[in-house]
Amino acid sequence: MLRFYNTLSRQIEDFKPLEEGKAKVYICGPTVWNFAHIGNFRTFIFGDVLHRYLQFKGYDVTYVMNLTDVDDRIIDESAKRGIAIGEMTAPYIVAFHEDMAALNCLEPDVEPCATDHIGEMIDIISTLLENGKAYESDGSIYYRISAFPEYGKLSKISFEGNIEGGSARVDTDKYDKEDARDFALWKLVEDPDATGWDAPFGRGRPGWHIECSAMSMKYLGETFDIHAGGIDLQFPHHENEIAQSEGATGKPFAKYWLHGEFLKIDNEKMAKSLGNDYTFRDIRERGFSPLAIRYLLLSVPYGKQLNFTFEGLKGAESAVERLRNFRRLVRETPTEENGESAAIEASARALEEFESAMDDDLNTSQALAAIHNLVREVNSLLADRRLSSGERDAVLAVLEKFDSVLAVLGEDSQEVLDEEIDALIAEREEARSNRDFAKADEIRDRLAEMNIILEDTKDGVRWKRG
Ligand code: AMP
Ligand code: ZN
Repeated sequence: MLRFYNTLSRQIEDFKPLEEGKAKVYICGPTVWNFAHIGNFRTFIFGDVLHRYLQFKGYDVTYVMNLTDVDDRIIDESAKRGIAIGEMTAPYIVAFHEDMAALNCLEPDVEPCATDHIGEMIDIISTLLENGKAYESDGSIYYRISAFPEYGKLSKISFEGNIEGGSARVDTDKYDKEDARDFALWKLVEDPDATGWDAPFGRGRPGWHIECSAMSMKYLGETFDIHAGGIDLQFPHHENEIAQSEGATGKPFAKYWLHGEFLKIDNEKMAKSLGNDYTFRDIRERGFSPLAIRYLLLSVPYGKQLNFTFEGLKGAESAVERLRNFRRLVRETPTEENGESAAIEASARALEEFESAMDDDLNTSQALAAIHNLVREVNSLLADRRLSSGERDAVLAVLEKFDSVLAVLGEDSQEVLDEEIDALIAEREEARSNRDFAKADEIRDRLAEMNIILEDTKDGVRWKRG
């Protein structure tokens, strides 16, 4: 039985979808104002593993991930550059799609953009104004938290007493609010040249939280199964989504809330604002493969923090190579009809271990351990004898099943191409000429792990496969 840690109840719960056999999932997507960093991708890979594992379990999954293509940062940056917000976000949307595809993330069933759903947001805000859960102040519209007594049920943050000078995470808007906790649903835009939309309650732009309420309910219904996102979104973003959605519909919003823990670096959260982030592209430029990046980011269960190091990434690169080499060996070693079946039994056991690990709130590290155990067992059989064809097929079939969820093996056509190796060598030469020896050494080690032997000749560096 598949179980999740539900942030809403703070308990491990059996997954019982609202509609048998179906799973409706929403995950908060990226704000497309820059290249996403690998901390963001840790969360999106967690979402992808969730998506794939629900499919593995036989659910008919509807997986929705939004793109936040309007927010204060996007508006400020595009105003600074004197371009429309769509012009500013377009290249980052393309880059995000490229990175997600390289990281083997499945495409969502729906990928709504906030700017295409302003009408739906206006509808929810109108309902909230009508039922007294929202009010206007100085032309902006705020959510009246005092009208939603369950506020705080997700984050368990107590709002007793004076919170005015409290947590910096409480939205601090410059406008007048009845209560410091109240958050903006719609922000007045007075300048006719500034980004804004017309609404019955005046020209303005949406608050961030209302975007996700509108897009999730549009595609999944007023009540759906799973809402996921990074842990930092739990409060206020998800708490506010609940208040807006339940305040408008009077029905429960999402049944299970799953939160991915942080990717850290030097034991600090990786964040653009802290300047300690690496984009996926930065890491690729250092010669690491997308499969290794994916492997590293999913190697620790999503509910636990993961500290990023290049050592860890090198380890992930070797682990991926080991698995790929193993698959190649099993595929290519001739079989022998010897009546043996130990590898069939080992494969069945590994699959059971994999499934029980994944059922346990997506314990990916245990799931990987099950795969590595199988590799070890079969390798030790192979040291003495060949596999029977039944054994070979069982091992390959189970590897394929694992990889339908973890997606770290790639296709054989994803073998490192000559051009990629040429590019790495060119990059290493450039690093050397810039006296960036640390980077040059890193690329050399990476090439060594790929079994590429470098030779210095009078015409420059030559290489061959070892
Ligand atoms: P943003 O583009 O800022 O809206 O963030 C996109 C997603 O990445 C959100 O779900 C965040 O919670 C998540 N996120 C941001 N930083 C990290 C991090 N260091 N580790 C894991 N997830 C993160
Ligand atoms: Zn969201």
